[in-house]
Order: sequence, then structure tokens, then C-alpha cells
Amino acid sequence: SHSIHQEVPRFLESDSTRIHQILANLLSNAVKFTPEGGQISVKVFAEKVGEQVKLHFTVKDSGIGIPKEKQSDLFTRFTQADSSTTKQFGGSGLGLSICRTFAELLGGEIWVESTPDVGSKFCFTILAEISDDQTAAQEEDVEVLDIDTSMNILIVEDNQWNQRLVLNYLDRLGYTPGLAANGYEAIAACESVNYDLIFMDMHMPEMDGIEATKDIRKKFSKNIIIVGLTANALASNREKGIAAGMNDYLTKPVTKRHIEICLAK
Ligand code: ADP
Repeated sequence: SHSIHQEVPRFLESDSTRIHQILANLLSNAVKFTPEGGQISVKVFAEKVGEQVKLHFTVKDSGIGIPKEKQSDLFTRFTQADSSTTKQFGGSGLGLSICRTFAELLGGEIWVESTPDVGSKFCFTILAEISDDQTAAQEEDVEVLDIDTSMNILIVEDNQWNQRLVLNYLDRLGYTPGLAANGYEAIAACESVNYDLIFMDMHMPEMDGIEATKDIRKKFSKNIIIVGLTANALASNREKGIAAGMNDYLTKPVTKRHIEICLAK
């Protein structure tokens, strides 16, 4: 569920991409660490601070929770609450440190309140300017890029939330992409459809993006463009992808604009 308090101004000047990335990260974690049948909510309220507005965002889940002693360093690089969660749920531990960097860049902060087996509440704030002018608020997004909407695109991504996110962006850009949840499914999909471009997650269970790329390069047209989706900006990851035959890569969390620029390229 979600709720936006009525006092939140309709138009604000801030960095929508960064806000989106923080929310996408927190929501993707909430989904990842909440068993089926649980609840996730997003709330936003505004507080006037001088001429500016402080927005308070809360992403709350009824998931597995985080032990007290692990909470303080969750926002530093490479921290995972329990190294065994990596095996079960994947992930690099980079997400929350990026969230903190972004929240601080936007004049705010981020923190967590959590109880094991009850759930977690991630809160962050940002400072924004009030804008009464819709055109000023959207100024930065005006440049329309030239993209070929006749391309057949496949999304290969195991995380349902990320899959839906990319699907939604592509849909809004005019595409109807195919979906695969791991490398095996990607190869099977390539056997039945001639894809022009594949967005390929690097880390997936069963068969990861690197293996799948090598296999697709062996079996199918060399003209297929493969764009890796990587959870962190480490150069070594990128190089592994390129060495396996990827043409390009995007660092998660991706935005609609990142995808649009990539497609234009
Ligand atoms: P990643 O998910 O890539 O490992 P994050 O920085 O996003 O990296 O998260 C770090 C760790 O914090 C996770 O591995 C998990 O142990 C814990 N965590 C984050 N969000 C939640 C949540 N909503 N519920 C339970 N644990 C969480």
C-alpha cells in the first residue's frame, strides 16, 4: 500500500532519478526479505523547513527483520546482515550505501528501525525547493531521444521487482519485451524468437548472465545486442561481462532515462 500526505506539494525541485533509485532499492529489499502474504507500505509526508520542504519517506515491511547489532553498519559498503542471506537472496550489500550517499546528496539522511521476525522500517529524508511551475519542474527531461521501437527486446532478470521495473520502463518507451528469469530461460526464449537486444542481469540462480551470454554468443546471431545489468559499478564485473560477449552494461538500479539513452546508443 502507499500513501502521500495531502500537504506534500504537487511540484518540487529535486533530483527525481536519485529519489527513484533510493525507493527502488528499499522496495526491492522489502520485497526480497518479506515472505509471501506479508505487507509492504510506502508513506510520504512533508514538513516545512524555512523556504524549503523536508520530505519524509518510509518504506515498511512485515519481513524477516534485522538484528539490532547489524543495524548500525547496514549503510556502509559491502554489509549484509547475515552472510548466509547472500546465498539465499543474492545481492552485493552495496544498495543501502548507495541509498545513504544519495539521501545525503539531497540534503537528508537515512535510518532503519527493525525487529527480527516482525519487520523493518527504512526512513529517509530529502530537502527540496517548492516549485509552483510544472514546466520548471520538468525542465531537465525535455530532450527526446531517437529510439527504434521496432526492436525485439528480452529482459533476463530473476528478481521479480526489477523485472517489472524494466518491463514498465520499456512499455512506456513503446516496447513489448519478452521475459526470462535465468540463463536457461533466456536461451530457450532465443530459440523461439529473434531478439535484437537483451537486457541481461549478471547475478541469477541456475545460470547467471555471464554463462548465458557466452552460450548465446555461441548459438545465435552475432548481431544480438546484449546489455548487462549489474548490481554494482565494480569495473571487474563490467569486464567479465564484456569478456563474455556483452556489448554494454547498465548499473542498477536503472532508470527509464538510462534505458532510453542505452537504446538510443
Ligand atoms: P544487498 O541487498 O545487495 O545485499 P543492501 O545494502 O541493499 O544490499 O542490503 C544489505 C543487507 O541488509 C541485506 O543483505 C539484508 O541482509 C539487509 N536488509 C536490507 N533490507 C532489508 C529488509 N527490508 N529486511 C531485512 N533485511 C534487510
